[in-house]
Amino acid sequence: MHLLVLGGTTEARRLAESLVPVEGIKVTSSLAGRVARPRFPPGEVRVGGFGGADGMAEWLRAHRVDAVIDATHPFAGTISFNAAGAAAAVHVPLLALRRPGWVPSDGDLWHVTDSLAGAAELLPALGRRIFLTTGRMGLAAFARLDALWFLVRSVDAPEAPCPPRMEVLLDRGPFSLDGERDLLRRHRIDVLVTKDSGGAATAPKLTAAREAGVPVVVVRRPPVPDGVPVAGTPEEAVAWLRDLAAANGWTAAPCPPR
Ligand code: NAP
Repeated sequence: MHLLVLGGTTEARRLAESLVPVEGIKVTSSLAGRVARPRFPPGEVRVGGFGGADGMAEWLRAHRVDAVIDATHPFAGTISFNAAGAAAAVHVPLLALRRPGWVPSDGDLWHVTDSLAGAAELLPALGRRIFLTTGRMGLAAFARLDALWFLVRSVDAPEAPCPPRMEVLLDRGPFSLDGERDLLRRHRIDVLVTKDSGGAATAPKLTAAREAGVPVVVVRRPPVPDGVPVAGTPEEAVAWLRDLAAANGWTAAPCPPR
């Protein structure tokens, strides 16, 4: 059985780690190649785009893929729609693995919006010193906010256009609560901007903001393509694969992730 895992997330790596040792399953993980030093999962790895939905369909056919798990980041919308199109075209079962989104707690001051442009519109009314944690892509949406100062945290350096008054902090999660508290205090942050990425690795900033009474602009996720089943954890994805194997008479019986 050949499984393609569309990756770039912790969950995708965990899935590959748990399935690679299983006899009878070949796992290929696919990375976009966006970050300079990616963390490679075990098993086969391919890097770079497929060339749209048609290119992915061709790849699935040529490499005799039996199932696809789209474990990309909840905000990587294009690849997910391409995967839905490609899997449907070549009749390969597809599952989306999406970690659950964050939910507000008592004391949170959240402003939910649909896009980075929507976030940029909200900012001038909320504060002056912004902690922007939405990644290095899409900073153009904030480029005209010259009255505001930005602390931009990203894995790799952002490229222009960017906000004119900004400091860049190159870092990669997980982040600690103490570290996030310290950042908010040291940079006198009065607004936090985040995507609703979900997961524990980057959640401490939300706690730190709540404690400090800092408002948070949360960008809502794009939808999962219609008709694609969703698993919330690698464990659920393995269960889906086990059911699929049973239904097709494949012999490999994946164990739950360790
Ligand atoms: P995107 O907008 O959905 O995808 C843009 C193009 O990049 C796709 O059309 C595809 O090119 C290629 N691509 C994306 N993911 C790929 C993968 N896993 N394997 C091969 N090609 C891939 O994606 P994005 O938002 O730029 O994110 C790129 C990668 O970074 C994703 O794999 C995602 O898991 C990871 N990531 C994204 C975010 C985020 O906030 N967006 C955060 C953390 C990690 P072709 O059309 O040529 O196939």
